[in-house]
Amino acid sequence: MNDPASLQSSIAIIGGGYAGINVAKALDEHAAVTLVEPKDAFVHNIATLRAVVRPEFLLRMFLPYDHLLARGRVVRDRAVRVDGRSVELASGTRLTPDIIVLATGSSYPFPAKSDTDSTRDALKQYRSAHEHLERARRVMLLGAGAVGLEFAGEFAAAWLDKEIVLVDQAEQILPGPYDQRLRDELNRQLRDLGVEQVMGSPLTGLPEIAAGQPGRFSVSTAAGTAVDADIWFRCYGIAPQTGYLAGDLLAARTPGGTCRSRRN
Ligand SMILES: Cc1cc2nc3c(=O)[nH]c(=O)nc-3n(C[C@H](O)[C@H](O)[C@H](O)COP(=O)(O)OP(=O)(O)OC[C@H]3O[C@@H](n4cnc5c(N)ncnc54)[C@H](O)[C@@H]3O)c2cc1C
Repeated sequence: MNDPASLQSSIAIIGGGYAGINVAKALDEHAAVTLVEPKDAFVHNIATLRAVVRPEFLLRMFLPYDHLLARGRVVRDRAVRVDGRSVELASGTRLTPDIIVLATGSSYPFPAKSDTDSTRDALKQYRSAHEHLERARRVMLLGAGAVGLEFAGEFAAAWLDKEIVLVDQAEQILPGPYDQRLRDELNRQLRDLGVEQVMGSPLTGLPEIAAGQPGRFSVSTAAGTAVDADIWFRCYGIAPQTGYLAGDLLAARTPGGTCRSRRN
């Protein structure tokens, strides 16, 4: 008689972020699941901006994959080529599952996301950023979208005595299809927290000091407003992680890196 397990579909889920772990867990009972993820732990990245100002949160941000699946397996590896039929991993292993789920999300500049796959290295990066922030008197956040605003709020709540300046070329905070009443309320909160805004004109150049590194700098907007600070962070630049798409899947990749659904 056939072993029922051998009759199950095999599914490779590429990426163990929020989407990947939920799909893997939901299918674990019903299919032979392989979750491919280069990081050594799940990163609860919506907590990063709090953790960088309050490092006691850091250890709650990295959750090992050890107990995620009862039957399936988690393979610590990176997909480097995926077409409609097979998955090639950085190690050289090739998977040919019945179904491939792409859940590789996006990258974002530090500290909203970290570029390392090692929890130990990420902890070092976040602790070091915290120490730099502790020593800074004035911080520039470049980008007044969701990340810049959230970072400003976390920062202002943690350090009442420091100055924050939010800089964006857009005329208003939170660019995008949001209700103006939301912006009005956010502006009220930012004013109460003493967050400065320099809006409506791009910087003529980025600071000479790298993002996240300590050091006094002065920059100017095209409109002529000078902005100085002791450290700055890039709060823009989300990038879909789909560079591995190949073969018949390549046609679905847009120039911006996102994937078209079949209907478009
Ligand atoms: C600071 C911050 C705050 C946020 N706050 C909120 C919030 O309050 N509410 C909300 O709904 N959303 C929030 N978000 C957005 C939310 O984090 C994302 O929507 C979510 O991360 C998307 O999950 P995902 O699983 O699709 O992708 P990701 O979380 O990006 O996970 C993708 C995974 O794929 C892995 N991967 C990448 N490439 C490969 C490859 N080639 N092979 C194998 N694995 C790969 C990565 O290592 C990663 O683990 C926030 C994001 C940030 C950065």
